[in-house]
Amino acid sequence: MNDKPEKFIDNNGLRLDGRKADQIRDIKIEVGVLSRADGSCYLEMGNNKVIAAVYGPREVHPRHQQKSTKAIVRYKYNMASFSVEDRKRPGPDRRSIEVSKVSREALEDMIFTEYFPKSAIDIFVEILQADAGTRTAALNAASVALADAGIPMRGLVSACAVGKVDETLVVDLNKDEDNYGQADMPIAMTPDGKITLLQMDGNFTLEQFKQGLEMAQEGCRQVYEFQRKALLDYYAKKEETEEVAVIEEVLQEEAPEEVVEESIAEEMEEIEEDEAEEVKAAEAESDQEIEEDSSETYETSDTVEEEATETEEPEDEDEEKEEDESTIDESDDEREVSQ
Ligand code: ADP
Repeated sequence: MNDKPEKFIDNNGLRLDGRKADQIRDIKIEVGVLSRADGSCYLEMGNNKVIAAVYGPREVHPRHQQKSTKAIVRYKYNMASFSVEDRKRPGPDRRSIEVSKVSREALEDMIFTEYFPKSAIDIFVEILQADAGTRTAALNAASVALADAGIPMRGLVSACAVGKVDETLVVDLNKDEDNYGQADMPIAMTPDGKITLLQMDGNFTLEQFKQGLEMAQEGCRQVYEFQRKALLDYYAKKEETEEVAVIEEVLQEEAPEEVVEESIAEEMEEIEEDEAEEVKAAEAESDQEIEEDSSETYETSDTVEEEATETEEPEDEDEEKEEDESTIDESDDEREVSQ
């Protein structure tokens, strides 16, 4: 069944979904949606719904893939089987392998891979709902997820397609424009205009190509503003909640802290009082000791005198001895006399 619309651009110059030729689809970005990933992003671009998860820098498995001078970047694009009208056969196919390859190349050069040798940065993107331009939507989400993971980058990569319908150039093609249009050129670029991905399906004249490039550049600039705002808002909010959490924690701890401070002050006072008492006691003791010492000195001199008198006593003893001897002599004399 051919659902090709008769006209892609109405009389007012508006497209089937009411957009102007240079208008991108509405974008909605949510940062940090997956708690297990190092960085993540949910992104809606029109009816496209994609989710990106970044892991790393982390160990490389299998190890033979690791590079000694830089990190390897791996990118896995997968379309959920329920993401399209007809059920898509699950698992990788030629298209998803090709999209994964070109998307990895679009991001790899923007990452400072040389900062993380022997490691891997893994990017997974799941397409939950597809409506043309899924590779560009996936790249936009992956770029934000990389930033959320804190991977150092030269800049965010922003992507959108430019195409041709009814000989008119249009940006960010929807499903009908993509399927039945004359050309489709997905482009990814850095904020300073360096192109990291450019593919083309269909035909452009050189003039159309140049003009299309300019339109895509403007589209990418608009995408970049959404990405930047989403990241800034997310981190501003996160910082705010963290600050509030810290303040709450401090407030909760304040009461016990006061008690602790009071008890410390009391303890300090007690210690000071004890110390002062000890000092007083020590002073009093030392005074007493000095007094005692001086009295002891007098005692010592008395003792010396006593000792001196004591030492004189033996002299008396000698005298006694002499007396004794004289007595003996006398007794001898007496004995002699008696004889
Ligand atoms: P992109 O999504 O990047 O524009 P394509 O141009 O290859 O990539 O695909 C255009 C659209 O075609 C997709 O967004 C999706 O809606 C649809 N499509 C792609 N592959 C399949 C598929 N295997 N089954 C059904 N629809 C598909």
